[in-house]
Amino acid sequence: MECKWVQTTCPYCACGCGLILLAIDGEIVDTLPSRTSPTNKGTLCIKGWNVHEFVQHKDRLKKPLIRNGGSFRETSWDEALGYAARELRRIRDTYGPDAIGILTSARCTNEENYILQKFSRATLGTNNVDHCARL
Ligand code: SF4
Repeated sequence: MECKWVQTTCPYCACGCGLILLAIDGEIVDTLPSRTSPTNKGTLCIKGWNVHEFVQHKDRLKKPLIRNGGSFRETSWDEALGYAARELRRIRDTYGPDAIGILTSARCTNEENYILQKFSRATLGTNNVDHCARL
């Protein structure tokens, strides 16, 4: 049996608490808070304590999906990003930039959220940017 402790950062919100994952034979089975992390100093919220449960969950999405009528089909990242870019351009050109709104996520880093608001304002031309923490 191979037992491995891996120090990492909680992916659930921008607090970025430090945690330690326990993996046994390549499967993540438990989470502990990092006592040396200056963010959480040995504590976690309920989401952090259970972070190991979603990683290997059978229902976890691992590939992008494109809606096709009433269902979804799996696709590649290249196709999904190309589709999103074409649709954003079409909507902006047809209805104007304020027909688009961008919602960012607490699961993104501050840098990713900055890039998303910059993309919204500078590339799409809309100030319709919000964040899930305000919803
Ligand atoms: S443990 Fe809770 S507060 Fe800390 S980063 Fe994860 S979700 Fe955010």
